[in-house]
Amino acid sequence: MNTCLNCEKNEQHVPLLSLRYQGADVFICPQCLPVLIHKPANLADKLPGMEHVQPPKHEH
Ligand SMILES: [Zn+2]
Repeated sequence: MNTCLNCEKNEQHVPLLSLRYQGADVFICPQCLPVLIHKPANLADKLPGMEHVQPPKHEH
């Protein structure tokens, strides 16, 4: 069963968004999506290489 890469909730409990990363399918739930967007380095243990991804610059 597919699970969120961050919180490991499965698709029976939360809707999961499908992503592609380094040739593999990964899944993340909406609650964890902000982590992927704003703090990608926090997911580096789940997604190797994310520690090098900078969040987008904000205007505010
Ligand atoms: Zn999650």
